[in-house]
Amino acid sequence: MLVDTYGRVATDLRVSLTDKCNLRCSYCMPPEGLEWLPGPDLLTDDELVRLVSVAVGLGVTEVRFTGGEPLLRRGLVSIVERVGALSPRPRMQVTTNGIGLAKVAPALAAAGLDRVNVSLDTLDRERFVTLARRDRLVDVLAGLAGAADAGLTPVKVNAVLMRGVNDDEAAPLLRWALGEGYHLRFIEQMPLDAQHGWDRATMVTAEEILASLQAEFDLTPVGEQERGSDPAEEWVVDGGPGKVGVIASVTRPFCGSCDRVRLTADGQLRNCLFAREESDLRGAMRAGASDEELGARMRASLLAKLPGHGIDDPGFLQPTRPMSAIGG
Ligand code: SAM
Ligand code: SF4
Repeated sequence: MLVDTYGRVATDLRVSLTDKCNLRCSYCMPPEGLEWLPGPDLLTDDELVRLVSVAVGLGVTEVRFTGGEPLLRRGLVSIVERVGALSPRPRMQVTTNGIGLAKVAPALAAAGLDRVNVSLDTLDRERFVTLARRDRLVDVLAGLAGAADAGLTPVKVNAVLMRGVNDDEAAPLLRWALGEGYHLRFIEQMPLDAQHGWDRATMVTAEEILASLQAEFDLTPVGEQERGSDPAEEWVVDGGPGKVGVIASVTRPFCGSCDRVRLTADGQLRNCLFAREESDLRGAMRAGASDEELGARMRASLLAKLPGHGIDDPGFLQPTRPMSAIGG
């Protein structure tokens, strides 16, 4: 198993399929984009499936495909199919901005994908353009509907609120999500943008988000026991069945129950989103490492996992890679 020195067991593997993206969300990427990873550095489909298979052999039960924008990866449907054929079969999910999802959702469902998480921070078209720097709100909404029609349910929606941009949209987003039957979760903005624009003093906190929601909705907390290692704290809205979640990575960190490990698109294993070191699985694999050797590297990487992300520590250093390159 992938156990660390604090007794945490990694069972949830987040795999970045590409660092490229067709949006430029301001909390994630600069307007001009980033220097993309060179093609030969990217894992091939075969290499990727092999590494996932080794991780599944070490107890990974949940595989989440992300990026960058995972729907830009040409082999996505076939990767899902191949990972779904592993034994024991892991649960599979894609985290996407939803652009193009309407078209590919039926194929993803047929390939065995269980669920999708779609990121959407505003329902206002002009704001969307300001926030994501592309006029694609209509495509995202179509993608959400397409995912629900294809049975990729419950459809989850992730929203990041930014002060002075969309921090007045907590309640409208929840009203909309409840009406559509989507499960909304707010994520606190984290210091992971390439431009280093994050500011602890001005970020929108979970407490503020809850206060705005409580002005309109009756929220009943879902018990800690039901939460398990889910990063989201959940509330039942207006007596149910709808719920809302808040992922308070900054103000209420959940590192103590973390069960995640990440594989970048260029084959580096990261034991934490905020890790400053990576384990080069691609290099080892291309040098001829066996599955056992790759597994040993994975276990060694997990053993070096720190107890927490330390965002509030005076010596905190943002990771050198931005979120889009690590895989969010
Ligand atoms: N492109 C896909 C998407 O947007 O869903 C997948 C990759 S994206 C990096 C994954 C998630 O990370 C999205 O929900 C996005 O909102 C979130 N994210 C990106 N930068 C963030 C930041 N600085 N703080 C908090 N969440 C962030
Ligand atoms: Fe692209 Fe997702 Fe980053 Fe937005 S959050 S720029 S959609 S990778």
